[in-house]
Amino acid sequence: MTIRRLSRVIKIDRYNAWVEIDGEEKYAHVRKRVLRDTGIYPGDYAWVSEVIRGREYAVEKIVPRKNILKRPTVANVSKAIYVHTFKQPEGYLFYLDLFLMNVIHEHIKPYIVVNKVDLLSDEELQYAKEVMKTYENLGYPVIWTSVEKKEGIEELKALLDKGTIVFAGMSGVGKSSLINTMYGLNLSVGAVSEKIGRGRHTTTYTKLIRVGEKTYVVDTPGFSLLEVPDDIEVKEVSSGFPEIAEREHLCAYPGCLHVDEPGCAVREAVEKGEIALHRYESYLKILEAVKEKEEERKWRRRKKRR
Ligand code: GDP
Ligand code: ZN
Repeated sequence: MTIRRLSRVIKIDRYNAWVEIDGEEKYAHVRKRVLRDTGIYPGDYAWVSEVIRGREYAVEKIVPRKNILKRPTVANVSKAIYVHTFKQPEGYLFYLDLFLMNVIHEHIKPYIVVNKVDLLSDEELQYAKEVMKTYENLGYPVIWTSVEKKEGIEELKALLDKGTIVFAGMSGVGKSSLINTMYGLNLSVGAVSEKIGRGRHTTTYTKLIRVGEKTYVVDTPGFSLLEVPDDIEVKEVSSGFPEIAEREHLCAYPGCLHVDEPGCAVREAVEKGEIALHRYESYLKILEAVKEKEEERKWRRRKKRR
């Protein structure tokens, strides 16, 4: 009788997988029916059998996923961290808003880290705090860090003590630096231009790194999560914006998209300053992108039918 055990999928390499067995990474063949029925992604929990005892393994079945983040794909994520900086680089809040929408869509808990606070003057810091107040009011934790000055690191570490943790954010904001400092790792850190240069020539895999008994961080060079998901529909966009979703029922038209419809409670709240203008603008921008994707899908379906 073959023994099957539950293992975590660490990394995918074409049609094979690296799985964790007794704390070690083992190479395993993935059965065709797994590829066909469920697919396999980093972060999956899988039933693995021993084809040759202690030497050859096969992935037999994937445990239903709790959630799945896309691009690159990671399954069963517990927490998603967005790293933002106000300087070097000056981050776009639009990306943060898009990230939040993606993550909420998958029912994953988001955290916002503002890194490189050592670079900010008192005035700049005050401004940054004001901007972030919007997000705190929406219920997202904001943690202020400096890898340079070792500030906020312990606080962040305490929040991220368990689970599968994904780091996202623009290139150069300090994701690798934060992971290294927090968990004593040695991921490559570098100037933005260097990183992009390297990325072009090396294949990069999404990989889970175990950093504690029940903690994994996801090292995804160039990982951004900064694209509009394919499977989201126009009416779903507002569910990624709690301050819009909670007012929707007050709009004059059911199904109001809050663009230019009369009697729109959301626009009214924006005008009164109850909804931050930059949040509303992000909403409109995402809505536009989702509409475009929907049009594309319709067009492709029509073409197929012909
Ligand atoms: P990533 O692309 O998001 O992974 O960013 P990296 O971790 O590679 O960091 C990009 C650059 O920012 C490196 O030169 C780091 O040394 C620098 N850096 C990271 N954190 C801080 C910080 O808190 N303060 C300052 N001044 N520089 C930092
Ligand atoms: Zn409306």
